[in-house]
This record gives sequence, C-alpha cells and structure tokens, in this order.
Amino acid sequence: MDAAARARLIRALAGTVIAHADELTGLDQAIGDGDHGLNMKRGFETVLAEADTLAAQPLPAMLAGIGKTLVMRVGGASGPLYGTLFLTLGKTLPEESGMADAAPALEAAVAAVKARGKSDAGQKTMLDVLVPVLEELKAGGEGLPARLAATAHAAAEATVPMRAVRGRASFLGERSVGHMDPGARSSALMVEAVVTWLEEQA
Ligand code: ADP
Ligand code: MG
Repeated sequence: MDAAARARLIRALAGTVIAHADELTGLDQAIGDGDHGLNMKRGFETVLAEADTLAAQPLPAMLAGIGKTLVMRVGGASGPLYGTLFLTLGKTLPEESGMADAAPALEAAVAAVKARGKSDAGQKTMLDVLVPVLEELKAGGEGLPARLAATAHAAAEATVPMRAVRGRASFLGERSVGHMDPGARSSALMVEAVVTWLEEQA
C-alpha cells in the first residue's frame, strides 16, 4: 500500500463523515445533545487538512496520528473513544500489514474502546456496530468486504429499538427507544467507507 492509497483512505473516511454531519447531528438531537455531527466534522476536517502528512507515514503511524487528532479535535464522549479506536489500531498493526492483520488489530481496538467507555455491545452505542463488524471480520471467508458493509449498516439499524444504558442517551431511559444511536451510525459510515476503499484497491 503506497502513500496515495493511504491518502485515499483518509479522504474516504473524512469525506463520508463530513458529508453526513447533518444526519449525525439530527440523530444526536433526538437522543443526545445534538453535537455528534459537528464534533465528528471538526475532527475529520483537521484529519483531512493533515491528509498528506499523515499518509506519508506507514499505515500504523498514520492510524495512530488520526487517533491523536480525533482525541484533540472531536471532543464529547465520542472523541476519546474514536481516538482510542484509531490509536489502538495503529499500535497493534504491524508495519507491513495485510488483511490477516485486520482482525487482531480491530479486536484490540474494540477491547480498548470497551475499557475506555466502560461499555459493551447491547448498550446502544458505537460498540453495537463495532462488535458485530469485528465478529464478521473474524469469520472471514467469501465476499467479506460486502458482508462487512452489510453487517455495519444492519447493526446501526438494530440500535433503533434498543434502550441506551451508556452515554448521554441513557439519561432518556425508555425515551431513547425508537431512534438510531448517532455513534452507531458514524461507525457504520466509517466501516462502509473502508470497505469501498478496499474494493477500489483490488
Ligand atoms: P456526547 O455524548 O458527549 O455529546 P457525541 O455526541 O459526540 O458525544 O457522541 C455520542 C456517541 O458516543 C453515542 O451515540 C454513542 O455511540 C457513543 N458513546 C457515548 N458513550 C459511550 C460509551 N461509554 N461507550 C461507547 N460509546 C459511547
Ligand atoms: Mg452529543
């Protein structure tokens, strides 16, 4: 993977988050404080501005760099959590990484998010997308990229009937039911962007 491919990955991730900022904000208006889109947009605009410098580094360093920027720029609950996700991916992936390294790296990253958020799947958060995507990735096999995208999309949809027990939405209790979790949606968007990018590499 060369610097141009890494730069395309950054643009794909940042592009989708920025393009969907209003939608993410709308979701957070329903069950949170309405800043998730703005938080994520601010973070990924900085990532985008640093794209060439970040992409000049090997993949692990690039991912760690994205994580640092997200910690500093996103804020809210999601900034440290997404920061932890990318930082841990960067720390875990070997310098010369291939598809076989993706599952162990995501496993470590999801574990780090759980530890940081004192949370797990089933609580109506980003983990309700990240955990099923990790499980699908570990399963491997035929048509994996498309399955990962479908899993991410369906998992975000599946947060609609859930009751939030972590994060700001948990303050609403039963009233959090009936809305998609904003962090689940942003996670799904990022997974879909990575998959599209992966398919374009082939
Ligand atoms: P804030 O809740 O501080 O306003 P954001 O609106 O940016 O932050 O992000 C909210 C999202 O963060 C939620 O939709 C949820 O997916 C995720 N989130 C919040 N708390 C946790 C947690 N403890 N563990 C995992 N994800 C969480
Ligand atoms: Mg919020």
